[in-house]
Amino acid sequence: MISIEGLSFSYPDGTKAIDNVTLDVTEGSAVGIVGANGAGKSTLVNHLNGYYLPGAGSISIGGIKVCRKNLDRIHKLVGLLFQNPDDQLFTARLYDDVAFGPENLGMNRADIAILAEKVLRELNLWELRDKPPAHLSQGQKRFASFATVLVMKPDVIVMDEPTSDLDPKNRRKLINLVNSLGITKITVSHDLDFIWDTCDRVCIMNNGCIAADGQTREILSDR
Ligand code: ADP
Repeated sequence: MISIEGLSFSYPDGTKAIDNVTLDVTEGSAVGIVGANGAGKSTLVNHLNGYYLPGAGSISIGGIKVCRKNLDRIHKLVGLLFQNPDDQLFTARLYDDVAFGPENLGMNRADIAILAEKVLRELNLWELRDKPPAHLSQGQKRFASFATVLVMKPDVIVMDEPTSDLDPKNRRKLINLVNSLGITKITVSHDLDFIWDTCDRVCIMNNGCIAADGQTREILSDR
């Protein structure tokens, strides 16, 4: 589903953030990306929906090359869940945030209404649909940001630190939600227990490289 081939990327100031990374992710698998601050995790996953384009090497997702002319197709395939839900929720009403993506795709209002209600109900957010996202609790905001991504029916979901700011109860709910999604999942996290509970494979990043890659139970056996 995801094929990364010899990817390198440097920021304009010369910082080499990704150094010749090759990685294949099969459809339906769940891969955790772990590593110290500055290892290159965010830079890597920001390539998966074309936010950054490869400096060298290539990426393809579902057989579609990530490049400027394919960005619309890539955005439909890959849902990116930002680290901070506030960056994903920007309208005055939760419902409008969930409807925003499908509206942008030009879907008609009646279809959007059906789809948005389904996703909001599945995430137990339907009663909150008229609330301003800013008034939601931290846990509610996290699930609301999931709703804005899942309503787009992505083939791949990329999650950047999805458990930050969650209490144990909501963390548990999030694990159940993530494990119920049959799509390809990439999770960047320092929360190794979350990775353990949700990922079948783990890549450890260090200095822009993948230092280790294997089954979760091998890689995190001494966690
Ligand atoms: P991680 O997500 O693992 O913490 P990042 O991908 O954020 O790592 O960062 C990788 C490297 O790129 C680090 O050395 C970081 O300082 C650098 N970096 C990140 N963003 C920028 C930027 N906008 N400009 C210059 N360097 C950056």
